[in-house]
Amino acid sequence: MSMEFLYAIINFLILAAIVLLLFRKSIISLFRDRRKRINEELDRAEAIESYTPILPTGEARADHSADELAEPKLLAMRASSEERMQQIAKKGEAARLEMRREMLSELHNQTVKRMIEHAAGLLTAEPMISRIRDLEAEMIDRILASVQLTPGDISYLKAHDVLYVTLTSTYALPDELVKRVEAHTDRMLAEVNGKTSFWVRQNPELLGGLILRIGDTVYDCSVAEQLYQLERRSEKDLISGYEDADDLINELKENIESTQNRINIYQLGRVLTVSDGICWMDGLADIMYGEVVEFVRGERGMVLDIQPERIGCVIFGKYQHIESGSRVRRIGRIASVPVGNALLGRVVDSLGHAIDGNGRIRTSEKRPIECRAPAILDRSAVCEPLHTGVKAIDALVPIGKGQRELIIGDRQTGKTALAIDTIINQKGKDVICIYVAIGQKDTAVADIRSKLEKYGAMEYTTIVCASASASASLQYMAPFAGTAMGEYFMYAGRDVLIIYDDLSKHAVAYRELSLLLHRPSGREAYPGDVFYLHSRLLERSAKLSAELGGGSMTALPMIETLAGDISSYIPTNVISITDGQIFLDTELFHEGQRPAINVGLSVSRVGSAAQTKLMKQVSASLRMKLAQYRELSGFSQFGTDVDESTQRILDSGIRMMTVLKQGRYSPLPDWKQALLIYSVSEGFAEAVPVDALEEFEWKLYSFFEEHYPELRERLDSGEKFDDRLKRSINEALSIFIKESVWQSSGN
Ligand code: ATP
Ligand code: MG
Repeated sequence: MSMEFLYAIINFLILAAIVLLLFRKSIISLFRDRRKRINEELDRAEAIESYTPILPTGEARADHSADELAEPKLLAMRASSEERMQQIAKKGEAARLEMRREMLSELHNQTVKRMIEHAAGLLTAEPMISRIRDLEAEMIDRILASVQLTPGDISYLKAHDVLYVTLTSTYALPDELVKRVEAHTDRMLAEVNGKTSFWVRQNPELLGGLILRIGDTVYDCSVAEQLYQLERRSEKDLISGYEDADDLINELKENIESTQNRINIYQLGRVLTVSDGICWMDGLADIMYGEVVEFVRGERGMVLDIQPERIGCVIFGKYQHIESGSRVRRIGRIASVPVGNALLGRVVDSLGHAIDGNGRIRTSEKRPIECRAPAILDRSAVCEPLHTGVKAIDALVPIGKGQRELIIGDRQTGKTALAIDTIINQKGKDVICIYVAIGQKDTAVADIRSKLEKYGAMEYTTIVCASASASASLQYMAPFAGTAMGEYFMYAGRDVLIIYDDLSKHAVAYRELSLLLHRPSGREAYPGDVFYLHSRLLERSAKLSAELGGGSMTALPMIETLAGDISSYIPTNVISITDGQIFLDTELFHEGQRPAINVGLSVSRVGSAAQTKLMKQVSASLRMKLAQYRELSGFSQFGTDVDESTQRILDSGIRMMTVLKQGRYSPLPDWKQALLIYSVSEGFAEAVPVDALEEFEWKLYSFFEEHYPELRERLDSGEKFDDRLKRSINEALSIFIKESVWQSSGN
């Protein structure tokens, strides 16, 4: 057993010796490798150990390591993280301010409410009552000093001979005071051969003080009115926002002081009927078209119809609480919306209220939604281009700043897509964009907003949205509201782009209102003034003269046609108002020619005055060539044999149509468009198979950017496109064509 054991050991030793002999080299190298790796690790650890203690903490540490190691990657990382930190800090600060403002306005609301309740309690309690009653004689003196007949009263007197005068007070007035008022009004009416029907009433709801009503005009010295004014003024002040609690308190103090001892003069009317968002009223003797009226619970409406016996108005928002016979009062101003920088990046409704959930919009300025268009002398010619970044538009139907260019086409032909690309292309070009969505789905608007945000275009854009679910009155107002917001910037010397998407739905909303207002309907049941509706809207877009600051407002209205019929009522109207149209063709769209611009039917009446010199020269022959191609392509469809020259025109036409295709959200700068069109129209792409033209396009751009930056620079700088420049470009293009290989081997 022990011998066996011994033999086994000897065998093992011999085997081990043989293995060692055979694999000596590899075993040694294995160990050497491991030792080397361990040594390396040790060195690294030592280096880190010696390095760490000398590094200070935080920012300085990052500086030090960057200097010492000077690793570009590290530097870049540091820069980006710093930038991110700054962004986060900025956002945090903005959120903090916003929260503070919200809290202050909430506080303000509550304070005002409490103060008003408190004041009402005080004023109706004993010591105050007798003090206010002592003032009654003085109030009557002040009222009588300010009464006068309005034009409305005089015309009423002509028809009715007698005018109602009512003196309402909280408590019974002494006879002597009543007599004084009666005598005064009698005298005043006698001067215009009228008679008074004098009434005296008592109404405890006034909470103190008195009211004199002559015809529809009210001279109000009541406590209830003072409290109402205080509330309204506080509401208005809220819009401008407070930075400080002290500001708020001072503001309130001033409000209270200025409301004391004041007569408020306004006109009253009475609701006759309410239905379908339309309210008929009487009274309101001197009301004007477009004025805002207020109903009892604070609902507002806008007057759109004035007849001898009744006044028609559209109600903004809800109207369930408005009853027949209830009071309605004039506010004394025409419908207006907030304007200013605070609106940029926001989504608002037709009244300028935020609907994007990002809090209240604080601006101190307002503009009426209806406003006179600039006069002829206030305008200057359209001469500056407004780049859309869409090849087919910039080359064939250029748009200038201050121009009105209609986008017209059937549904789903890429109308909105063109407008959104144009907005995206204005990035960094100092153009304010306003997108007015009329009668669209809320989801479509939300999608547009997220796309604009994604491409960084929301910073300079306002979306005015009256979606399909909004009332006809709000849809009617939306484009006017958007225009007012744009005008603010235009008169401040800025460039504005406004998009009305779309005016057919606007016309339908106006038709609905007109039919509800019982106006006679004309062609296609539209009211007779539907032309005026759109012309007064679009006339407000203009290029202002240098004396007025040289601002501009470019309008891109849209019209949806039915089965390509551009000769129906609304399309012909808007075509004749605008300075040209871009016609989008369903057939082209389905053939894959996108944007589906029909070159034959699209025009720009401003023409090449709104093009850069470069584009003007490059695209001069393009329209002609495309027209030729269209003409001949009709024949070629019959499958006839065509001669060589015709075939050449057809080939180059197909190439040009192909290069005019462009994807969404990819606007191109001017030089790229010009270079591409030039190279194709000069025949450089003749050898390129049609299905490789897309590849040709992007390779061309990167070739010039990489190898000919100076030529790219010259194209971009707006230098004259003369023979010298042409020669250099031709040379570069020849090299490019020679060097390139196309994926497709032909079609
Ligand atoms: P509607 O009549 O519904 O308002 P529209 O005429 O405004 O439609 P869009 O909504 O802009 O049309 O576009 C319709 C569809 O065509 C969309 O799905 C859009 O993505 C697509 N489209 C538009 N332009 C292009 C383009 N240049 N390339 C590819 N697809 C496009
Ligand atoms: Mg659309």
